[in-house]
Amino acid sequence: MPSARSIRVRGVVQGVGFRPFVYRLARAHTLAGWVLNGEEGVEIFLEGADTGLDAFVERLKTELPPAASISELEIAQAKPLGLGDFVIRESQRREHPTVRISPDLPVCDACLAELFDPKDRRHRYPYINCTNCGPRYTVILDLPYDRPYTTMKGWPLDRYCDSEYHDPENRRFHAQPVACPACGPKYYLQSKGERCEGKEAIQKSARLLRKGRILAVKGLGGYHLACDARNGDAVVAIRERKYRKEKPFAVMAKDLASVQQLVDLSPDAVELLTSTARPIVLAPAKVELPGVAPDNSELGVMLPYTPLQHLLFEAGAPDLLVMTSANRSSEPIAYEDEDALESLSAIADEFLIGERPIARRVDDSVARAGPFGPTILRRARGYAPAAVTTLPVTRPILAVGADLKNSITLVVDGQAFVSQHIGDLDHYQAFRAFQETIRDLTSMYEVRVEDLTIVHDAHPEYASTKHALGLTSARLISVQHHRAHVASVLAERGEWDKQVLGVSFDGTGFGDDGSIWGGEFFVGSLRAGFERVTHLRGASLPGGDAAAHLPVQAAAGFLAQLEKLPDLTAGPFAFPTRYRQAVELVQKKIRTFGTTSIGRLFDTAAALLGFTREMSFEGQAAMWLEQLARTFRQEIEPYPFPFREQELDFRPLLSAVIDDRAHGRPINQIARAFQRSIAQGIVDAAKKICQQNVLDTVVFSGGVFQNELLLEDVKSFLDEGLLQIWTNHAVPPNDGGISLGQAAMAAFM
Ligand code: ZN
Ligand code: FE
Repeated sequence: MPSARSIRVRGVVQGVGFRPFVYRLARAHTLAGWVLNGEEGVEIFLEGADTGLDAFVERLKTELPPAASISELEIAQAKPLGLGDFVIRESQRREHPTVRISPDLPVCDACLAELFDPKDRRHRYPYINCTNCGPRYTVILDLPYDRPYTTMKGWPLDRYCDSEYHDPENRRFHAQPVACPACGPKYYLQSKGERCEGKEAIQKSARLLRKGRILAVKGLGGYHLACDARNGDAVVAIRERKYRKEKPFAVMAKDLASVQQLVDLSPDAVELLTSTARPIVLAPAKVELPGVAPDNSELGVMLPYTPLQHLLFEAGAPDLLVMTSANRSSEPIAYEDEDALESLSAIADEFLIGERPIARRVDDSVARAGPFGPTILRRARGYAPAAVTTLPVTRPILAVGADLKNSITLVVDGQAFVSQHIGDLDHYQAFRAFQETIRDLTSMYEVRVEDLTIVHDAHPEYASTKHALGLTSARLISVQHHRAHVASVLAERGEWDKQVLGVSFDGTGFGDDGSIWGGEFFVGSLRAGFERVTHLRGASLPGGDAAAHLPVQAAAGFLAQLEKLPDLTAGPFAFPTRYRQAVELVQKKIRTFGTTSIGRLFDTAAALLGFTREMSFEGQAAMWLEQLARTFRQEIEPYPFPFREQELDFRPLLSAVIDDRAHGRPINQIARAFQRSIAQGIVDAAKKICQQNVLDTVVFSGGVFQNELLLEDVKSFLDEGLLQIWTNHAVPPNDGGISLGQAAMAAFM
């Protein structure tokens, strides 16, 4: 007696080989019926014996294709229709596409084997891919995910590719970007005036890299600048040409064995490194590569993820390549050929270019295996634009994020799609990318801007805020920055009602009172909202947010509250004259703002320990201090950083730092003790507040929690099992996670 089931699957189930997988599974259990891509996911109808149906469902859950994931599975009893066969039906196009666009995928093992098989049709062809691998988000122009709506639309399939594309038994069944050397895009190496094509281009590129040349190489979501990571001259040359003085470069290593010679990898780090997102993973360096990551004990490493990158290594390129976003310093990554050729002409010696256009700019992601689980520091390729959570809300929401490390979040049918890292909206290019991404996601999901609830930061001067205010929307909501940080963690976990203590530490954010916040403690829940219960003791900040570039300027504000200050312009402190000018601003209360920023407290300590120059990238002084602290590996007493009268008092802490420095204590010991004090302060305050409010869970978010040593110290101070700690795993703890937090808070307003 046959029975039947109607099944609906939501999640990442389109463009990842899901239907052929269903097809093979159905046939294996002699079930009849059909599968199709609906607008709300994949729909399956099955009929046959109960044992077969049960086995099908079991294997559907456990044997998914590598890039697929199921978020919802609905199974209903149905009436058998007496079907004789199982088929894959054509896509249906209905009102609202809420299927998920898959992030880009690294080349799979099966395709790699073909890539290096001389007898294969796609031998050494860099555009090889299948339903289990290859580009997705970076080739999609529109939904549904079908070849005419991708950047491959200009290359009609030849008979060979077409037969694979239409064969349900084939790995390339409905693989939209499928191509072969006969019908697909070409690629070439462009040097001054010369151009060589095909396999020779790759051989020659590898040779040039060995010689120390700088190549612009087109990747999935933009161009990279590549050079031999062991060639100090080449590394220095990239820095000079790019005007990038000190910010670390990422390295691409040939394979896992090469990575292991370079950095210490924990099992968690290996998992991140080899995950389908293939992010840049930060890990402790074992070898020094001159100029690659100055003043940094960590190195960012990734594995090759495109066929072209594998081909370069096979052709004899150096096994460690600097692979950095191709741009002039702080501009977004170049992704259009003409723009790249023009803007990179003074940086790259040669260009390795493939013809397939890139639909949108998507940087490499950056992650780290932290003491409380994986942390994503930059969420882009391999992660975006996947939904990170489902919110209990039906109306569409657009959250425009913060101005630094901007990302946006679009919520459709409750699914929160977080965009790729967009960057610093102060830059014209990034602001344009911000507008494009809003247009992109809203049009792909067919949401009308007028129907949106739009959420922005409370900062009236943010470019994102101004943009939001200029849009015609159904409703406009403002969310305070540090509450959004805390909310992002709870949103990831789907915790709407959990009462927590939220610790939100970062460099800057607009506070309720108009001052610059950044050392905040909140009590509350996503649904009820968050009340600020305590914070870092307030200090003056001459120059406001501009002080973020110059540690001695922040120091002038914080140190103004100390009694008996030595002459800091004399040794060993040797503060430059900018310090005196800043002190004057504080004294006369000119251009001076109030702040509770932990980021600026870190800057002050860094200045006292010798970082008195201007920073060349955001957060540099705090990173420098963390790295310095890491060089002292013994037990050390923290300085006093007392929590009293509802504030964390930095005065005894900074006095102790000044005393020790004046008395010649090694700066790495002082840095270590300072780091431990911050951790101790957090834990003391957390314990008290949790006890007073009967809470068992503490949420950490904000850019300061990218400081891994701080998290390790916090962990060491916590008594086992007393409090549970929640941190970000799906979005960054820095401002890249703000848009998710905004969207989540708006869902309950
Ligand atoms: Zn493949
Ligand atoms: Fe922030």
